[in-house]
Amino acid sequence: MTRRDFEIALIAAAVVAVVGWAIGYAVGWATKPETVVQAVAVEGEPAREVAPGGRFAGGDGVSYPGYEEIYVNDYAELLSLEAEARVRQDLKDLYARSGIEMTVLTIETMGAYGHHGPIEPFATRLFNAWGIGNADRNDGVLVLVARYDREIRIEIGAGYAQSWDARMQRVIDAGFLPYFREDNYERGIENGVEEAIFELTGSYPGEERVGTAARGWSWIWRRVQMAGEWIWALLLVPLGGGALALRRYLRSRPRPCPRCRFTMARMGETADDEHLDGGQRLEEFLQSVDYDVWACPDCDHMDIICYPSWFSSYGSCPRCNYRTLSSESEILEAATTSRTGRKRVDYHCRQCGYENSEIRTIPKVSKSSSGSGGSFGGGSSSGGGASGRW
Ligand SMILES: [Zn+2]
Ligand SMILES: [Zn+2]
Repeated sequence: MTRRDFEIALIAAAVVAVVGWAIGYAVGWATKPETVVQAVAVEGEPAREVAPGGRFAGGDGVSYPGYEEIYVNDYAELLSLEAEARVRQDLKDLYARSGIEMTVLTIETMGAYGHHGPIEPFATRLFNAWGIGNADRNDGVLVLVARYDREIRIEIGAGYAQSWDARMQRVIDAGFLPYFREDNYERGIENGVEEAIFELTGSYPGEERVGTAARGWSWIWRRVQMAGEWIWALLLVPLGGGALALRRYLRSRPRPCPRCRFTMARMGETADDEHLDGGQRLEEFLQSVDYDVWACPDCDHMDIICYPSWFSSYGSCPRCNYRTLSSESEILEAATTSRTGRKRVDYHCRQCGYENSEIRTIPKVSKSSSGSGGSFGGGSSSGGGASGRW
């Protein structure tokens, strides 16, 4: 790229950035929830006794599930350990910054606990037996997924006004159900929990301090991910088309000879080969760099402009500097959750013959911290919330 190319690309990038920021800001402003739960900062974890797991009698012939920890009780095993750890972290953070106890419970069927009928009374009874949420504010939230009943309930504490029912309905309809309908429970639970947190606090997990424009883009990004693959075609065609058109324009735009100001001409791919050295020809052959040769028809000035490929697997050789370095890696020892692994990477330059090998460490496979215990704050629900089926 020449200096002028760079300036044109910079202007194009600046326009894209400004327009992108404006779109993000507008979306962020338009999607901000009207009211959010009053933030109550909390120090540390809720420090109460661990309630026993197993089951307990509800006095109505139903034996309700107990809890093993206060964030995620995935009895239907819908979440991988990694996803469960992410959801747990989101819920822990929610508690730390807002004091809201939100908990996720998955079960296979309500029938297995002796309950037959609608999910609402089951959820309310369970909510109150567990005592989810602060006992004074009654701000707890229970997400109950009954996998084989194909029913979900978000039960909210008695402290929420009735308008919250509609908001939780939106969370179910837009956050959980689209994935549940595809039997993608893990993604549905993660996404739904994040949407619920957004609805409760006005920001997605980890985005408490981001600006309006960033929040808007995060909102757009979530919709894009949810819409599925087809939307990529819709987005990538104009975006990729624009980038390619710009790249094409920059490569072929008329350029004046720096010496005599005469307009130079670009040589064809075969004609320019004789002006390239061996290393450059090899780069063109490996498609790691493409060269354009511009010649002035008036004086003999010649410009060789290089365009490194965006997707080449070849790296730059530390000895000859041509982009002709191939690498191959072999795993010597696979990483596990308890120890790191090792791999050997072999480098070979196709141009100058440079060889090198390095031993690299493969990071440990991350393991989720499970079972953090604790117990709920004794909140109660008067049956508010929303339900859905899929
Ligand atoms: Zn010239
Ligand atoms: Zn080399």
